[in-house]
Amino acid sequence: MRCTRCVAHWKAYYWSPLLTVPLADLVSQYHAIRSEIDAAVHNVFESGQFILGSYVEDLERLVAEVSGAAYAVGVNSGTDALLLGLAALGIGPGDEVITTPFTFVATVEAICHLGARPVFADIIPRTFNLDPDDARRRITARTRAILPVDLFGQPADRAAYQQLAQEHGLQVLYDSAQAIGARYDGMPLGAFGDALTLSFFPTKNLGAYGDAGMVLTNREDVRDRVRMLRFHGSDGGYEYDHVGYCSRLDALQAAILQVKLGHLEAWTETRRAHAAAYAECLRDTECVLPSSDPRVYHVYHQFTIRHPRRDALRAYLNERGIRTGVYYPSPLHLQKAYRHLGYVPGDFPEAERACREVASLPVHPEMTEEQQQYVCRTIVELHNRS
Ligand SMILES: *Cc1c(COP(=O)(O)O)cnc(C)c1O
Repeated sequence: MRCTRCVAHWKAYYWSPLLTVPLADLVSQYHAIRSEIDAAVHNVFESGQFILGSYVEDLERLVAEVSGAAYAVGVNSGTDALLLGLAALGIGPGDEVITTPFTFVATVEAICHLGARPVFADIIPRTFNLDPDDARRRITARTRAILPVDLFGQPADRAAYQQLAQEHGLQVLYDSAQAIGARYDGMPLGAFGDALTLSFFPTKNLGAYGDAGMVLTNREDVRDRVRMLRFHGSDGGYEYDHVGYCSRLDALQAAILQVKLGHLEAWTETRRAHAAAYAECLRDTECVLPSSDPRVYHVYHQFTIRHPRRDALRAYLNERGIRTGVYYPSPLHLQKAYRHLGYVPGDFPEAERACREVASLPVHPEMTEEQQQYVCRTIVELHNRS
């Protein structure tokens, strides 16, 4: 007698998708540029110089150049770039910094560590970025700075923020951890604001093989202050003008990043091509596609859609070998660590709704056309079934 339950069990066990699609594929990326990376790493080992030094200075110069900023200062991580960048802008106890609750936690952590208070404003549902009109409503006599985030690789509205800053005498630091290579009005992002921070976390568009970050600025005072802060508050000797940090960029990471920087433009173009292909094939499904402001050159760190049955979609894709992410599952104003700020559910309805509806599809440059078509086909198949 045939046991149907056994057959079902057998099928569940042995049936596995022909293709799998990860959310990132750093090993494939390494294999594609292996000879360059191995040579760069070898050179650092032979140089005997492991922290700061010429590899870091060269990278700082190159990143400043492609970002259109006058200066770049390499630090330990994107998180430290925020911390040191805000400190260099003079943010401290009693100050308020307006930012978004729909971002990675580091944005808000940095404000709190300096003794300042994060003041949230809601997001624009179409772009997921901080809403400048809502930000304006949150300005008080204690507001010192605005901290917009270029979420998913799409620049926040530079024109609106620069105007707001000018009208109210505020400084602007842009958290551009997800948006290296992006442009606004045709200009690279280093042209705007008092400072901009980058993260080279391995999965970012330009990723190190470990932690690394950078502060970009056009202000000499900010550059000098960040340089001191990353080195215990000294300018290299044993005189300490500030209470500093130990937050330097490794030569090894700098050498790796220099190699990868040479590929960034091509990788970004591939991300954009994947995004365009998704937009085409998902047009008639329930997916709400990410909109791109016509003034921006979006670098698609994530390709983030909204879906009315987000969790069902993710489960369906996951069963078929396709990994997706939720950035971010809950807004920062409702996290336990930030309860002391006094916010309650409903305070930022668009951020809260985004957390329920978003899913990020694979968009990394190593994804093949075949893999992408498989993702598209699978989503359309689910749509046609329901
Ligand atoms: C990744 C990220 C950071 C932090 O960068 P690390 O290098 O991981 O410290 C900060 N803000 C945003 C928006 C990020 O995506």
